[in-house]
Amino acid sequence: MSGLWYTEKQTENFGITMKIKQTLHTEQTDFQYLEMAETEEWGNMLFLDGMVMTSQRDEFVYHEMVAHVPLFTHPNPETVLVVGGGDGGVIREVLKHPEVKKATLVDIDGKVIEYSKKYLPEIAGKLEDERVDVRVDDGFMHIANSENEYDVIMVDSTEPVGPAVNLFTKGFYAGIAKALKEDGIFVAQTDNPWFKADLIREVQRDVKEIFPVTRLYTANIPTYPSGLWTFTIGSKKHDPLEVKEDRFHDIDTKYYTKELHKASFVLPKFVKDLTE
Ligand code: SAM
Repeated sequence: MSGLWYTEKQTENFGITMKIKQTLHTEQTDFQYLEMAETEEWGNMLFLDGMVMTSQRDEFVYHEMVAHVPLFTHPNPETVLVVGGGDGGVIREVLKHPEVKKATLVDIDGKVIEYSKKYLPEIAGKLEDERVDVRVDDGFMHIANSENEYDVIMVDSTEPVGPAVNLFTKGFYAGIAKALKEDGIFVAQTDNPWFKADLIREVQRDVKEIFPVTRLYTANIPTYPSGLWTFTIGSKKHDPLEVKEDRFHDIDTKYYTKELHKASFVLPKFVKDLTE
């Protein structure tokens, strides 16, 4: 589909559209419709079930913000789990922390991993690292079978539809609490406040009932619906707003900074209202 425009419908009445240079791969996998295309504006881009997943040009924002906020909040994150994240971007960021001894990735769809390695090498390139254990499995089942195992868990899943529908339930968050160690932290991408306010409100309510420290932070992701993205963090002990200055070590990033670590929790009024 070269020269054509690809539109992602973000609601029934609104979407974003982008000019495609060439289609690289399309396939109906066992779980979702996978498309990889080269776009004029954003480089190679992965779509699942018609939704933008990641692009070569703006991927760093999401992957840095999912990974570095919880990893700098935890004093010594040795074991990390990523649920979803088959494009490899979160794992690449996790490995920038020397404390991490083992990073497990559990994505339900091996085709996402396969085609991300082929067409998004700068995003997926660390999935072969010796500290990484990649498993093709349902993250919901993996969590259900885990106990007191992880310091940090990141839920980098698709939207709460299709295979990811269970990954936004209170039962899943209770399972995450069980899978975490006694001072563990988890973060989940929780979509945008313009079109998914109810989702954010429900997740905040559910997580607050399970974790003593629950917060919401944001980042600007131009290719995601509305461009304003949120992340929900649930922590058994450590507060992301109380990280000591000497905890932040130098790290190679393009978006995350230790100042932004704290500032990203300052919310516009209509977003803050979703957390109360
Ligand atoms: N950053 C993107 C976002 O915020 O929408 C997500 C990118 S990542 C590619 C999403 C991954 O979640 C996909 O590879 C998909 O296969 C995976 N996924 C969906 N449901 C899952 C489940 N139940 N268990 C594990 N992985 C799942």
